[in-house]
Amino acid sequence: MDRLVIGVDLGGTILRAGAFDAQGTMVVVCETPIEAARGPESGLQKMQGLIKQVWAESGAKTLAGIGIGSTGPVDPLHGIINNPFTLPTWENVRVVEWMEKAFSVPVTLENDADVAALGEYWQGAGQTIQRLYAVTVGTGVGTALILDGEIYRGVDGSHPEGGHMVLDPGGPLCYCKMRGCWESLCAGPSIERQAREADLTGSHLLEMAAGERDNIEARMVFEAARMGDKPALAIVEDFTRYFIQGILNVCILFVPEVIVLSGGVMRSTDLFLPRLEDALQAYTEMVPAHRVHILPAKLGYYAGLYGAAYTIWSKVL
Ligand SMILES: [Zn+2]
Repeated sequence: MDRLVIGVDLGGTILRAGAFDAQGTMVVVCETPIEAARGPESGLQKMQGLIKQVWAESGAKTLAGIGIGSTGPVDPLHGIINNPFTLPTWENVRVVEWMEKAFSVPVTLENDADVAALGEYWQGAGQTIQRLYAVTVGTGVGTALILDGEIYRGVDGSHPEGGHMVLDPGGPLCYCKMRGCWESLCAGPSIERQAREADLTGSHLLEMAAGERDNIEARMVFEAARMGDKPALAIVEDFTRYFIQGILNVCILFVPEVIVLSGGVMRSTDLFLPRLEDALQAYTEMVPAHRVHILPAKLGYYAGLYGAAYTIWSKVL
């Protein structure tokens, strides 16, 4: 291989880098813990080292560029990571400038939800789709809109946060300072909190969590619901109602051809996907929601690497 692009995924715990050829094949991938608490300087050095390692292992002669997807907030227009919740002390970190100096190639920086969606557009579930919306449900609810193969940006390059749209103004308080946003109702920590606070008489949940409420995980709640566990079923019922409402709102706002779903919640689609499909089929009054396809993401943990690499390849090619 002559020329490659390196995609980087900077998360709160893991740093990944992958080398991609122009056809979208990932030829090498490596990862290392980011150890965010050691600060941005140490983190950037780690990133530089990992990029070097991936480049060396790929055997490519030329590096065409580096695309970075990072946990937000990021400023993609100026290449700055600005104090993400998951990277404390990473304030005003000029990651693009650093890597451009280190490697003398073009470098991009994007929000991680955006590059994950872009990856699915390039090589995953959403190829050639003109209007692709992506929803990731895990420790949070992340969203992104890919329009004609490009990341949709708000004013000043800001990233729209669909996961913090309010579905129930009387709902639980979120760190976004609103009540009842999609994330506060449907993300893993919300499901765990509800289970820990619930009356668990006659439930298997405590058993599954070795007798400790604090050990209850979201996946246990879905598992218990599958066995007909009443408190778990009630939580999954609320989750399903709010999740469907969130997806319907996305349809009403954007009417995308495809909504790609990813994250831990995808292990439990049997419990809510049929009802979601029914709800979309039924909602035809104002927008043709029945034409919106729900697809599972294909690229898993690596979606962000693909998308980050594509931010460079789409410019070079
Ligand atoms: Zn919120």
